[in-house]
Amino acid sequence: MGKSAGSARSCPGTFARAWAKAVSGTSYLPMTQAQLEALLQRLTERLAVAIQSEPFDLRIGHQVGAELVQAHIASAEGLGRTIEVIQLRLVRDLGLVADDVEDRMARLLATVATGYARALRDRTLDEQESIRRAAMMARAQAERALRESEARFRHQATHDPLTDLPNRTLFTERLAAALDTADRIGVCFIDLDRFKVVNDSLGHQIGDLLLVSVAQRLRRALGEHLVARLGGDEFVILVERTAGTDDVVEVAEAALAAVSEPALVDGHELTVSASIGIVERPAAGTSPMELMRAADSTLHWAKAAGGARWSIFDADRNRQELARYALSAAIPAALDRGEFYLDYQPLTALRDGRVLGMEALVRWRHPELGVLRPDSFIGLAEETGLIVRLGAWVLAEACREARTWADESGDGPFVSVNLAVQQVRRPGLVDEVRDLLRRTGLPPGRLQLEITESTMMSTAEEPVRALRVLADLGVRIAIDDFGTGYCNLAYLRGLPVTELKVAGEFVAGLRAPAGRTDERILASLVSLAHALKVTVTAEGVETAEQAERLRAIGCDAAQGWHFGRPGPAAQHLGRSPALTATG
Ligand code: C2E
Ligand code: CA
Repeated sequence: MGKSAGSARSCPGTFARAWAKAVSGTSYLPMTQAQLEALLQRLTERLAVAIQSEPFDLRIGHQVGAELVQAHIASAEGLGRTIEVIQLRLVRDLGLVADDVEDRMARLLATVATGYARALRDRTLDEQESIRRAAMMARAQAERALRESEARFRHQATHDPLTDLPNRTLFTERLAAALDTADRIGVCFIDLDRFKVVNDSLGHQIGDLLLVSVAQRLRRALGEHLVARLGGDEFVILVERTAGTDDVVEVAEAALAAVSEPALVDGHELTVSASIGIVERPAAGTSPMELMRAADSTLHWAKAAGGARWSIFDADRNRQELARYALSAAIPAALDRGEFYLDYQPLTALRDGRVLGMEALVRWRHPELGVLRPDSFIGLAEETGLIVRLGAWVLAEACREARTWADESGDGPFVSVNLAVQQVRRPGLVDEVRDLLRRTGLPPGRLQLEITESTMMSTAEEPVRALRVLADLGVRIAIDDFGTGYCNLAYLRGLPVTELKVAGEFVAGLRAPAGRTDERILASLVSLAHALKVTVTAEGVETAEQAERLRAIGCDAAQGWHFGRPGPAAQHLGRSPALTATG
């Protein structure tokens, strides 16, 4: 077979244009018409080579088919039209001459179709593969993004936004985990001293900056331990795996030192101190909550001792405080059940041994603990504010009982009632007393209110005015425990006071032979008090000798075991033997 091309009639451009026309519109082509024609012209030239090559080269047809697919002429229709246009026009338009041209044309078309089909299949596979790969990548990316946002979210959920320290959640998690794995464990519960003053005087912004600075210092000093911020000015350090309290004390001391470094905050040089509650114990048998509660109460011991120090948990002390707390919580129900009652102790005139008045002393007949003296619950009731309710009951009960002490002439000893500072400061005191006197019918002069020297000193204008109203009504006002505080007589002049009760400590001095100084002090106190028209009662008088000396220096009255122990009122009524008995 000879190969000869009709050179004059050969026009690949015409054929390529016809081809382009045939396929355009059969599928979306990402090229211009001119680019399409240029491509097809190139393929046309190759087809021409193929039809004439000797021997017949299968690969050219395959390549042309594959290139068509690559060029996105990849629909069934595009292939059909291509086959058709080649078959009808290629030989004619290019003026090709070959012996077995028909046979060659058939083979050429078959190879183009085969190349086309293969390429299409490969492309589909490639596409599937790349889709698969893209899907995998997309999934991996999505997972990574999810993990990152989870990590971010977890960080936010477990860290304090201000200082970026771990927060309570993370601390509690780590504490719980450590309790499961460690033998012994320690916690330092830190609270800044007087942080509120910084906030109030310099503003919250400076307060926040100071917290950030404290957090940084703690982290720097104690980086090996978990340092967390629980909120406000409270931080906590977890000491995992301790060998004993010493390990945790060391951490606490490092923390105190770190906190107390002066810090420059927004131009202010600030120095703060902290209080730390330390708990160190075996991990077995303790829970995070219990541990934190213990650390919290221990922290308060450090605060109560003045701050800028650590305090270590003490189980006995804690038990006592819990018992005290439980006791105070039981007061309201005990009032409702009538478990309180009053004992009375006489205030006896030193001149003639007459019972001038009786002090009401509250007792609690506790169903389990027996009779409790006021020292074991009054302090608590004052701390919790329950004293207001308890005190109101005492006052009412004392007035009610005192009303029954009058003799035939209607006269009788006054009742002397202790008032706690909260009762004195309460705005309703005047109305309460007036109302009680009216309801019980007790003459005002037979009620004495005992107010401690320290209460008097710490009391503002308003309560003093209330006491003056009561004094004007005729109610007696006594200063209790006089001599234990810093009250002076000049100050007393401005107060509506009718009586001074001199503390037992002064009276105790009268017993010793060396008590002459005390005696002289007491004597001048008595004469000054008398000059102010204030009577003097000595407390804690235990012996006849003390009573005699007090009488000799002009003291008006006395109270104490020598004259009668606290007990039911009836026990003291109509008796006045104590003084006379001594001669
Ligand atoms: P206080 O007002 O100084 O009461 C006198 C306390 O001294 C009483 O103790 C009394 O039993 C005790 N005492 C009396 N004579 C002697 C003595 O010769 N020697 C010694 N060593 N002690 C003597 P009590 O009854 O235990 O009361 C303790 C404190 O409880 C009272 O001290 C008073 O401050 C407070 N208190 C008692 N009842 C009430 C109350 O109803 N309200 C308030 N707010 N406080 C009360
Ligand atoms: Ca008293």
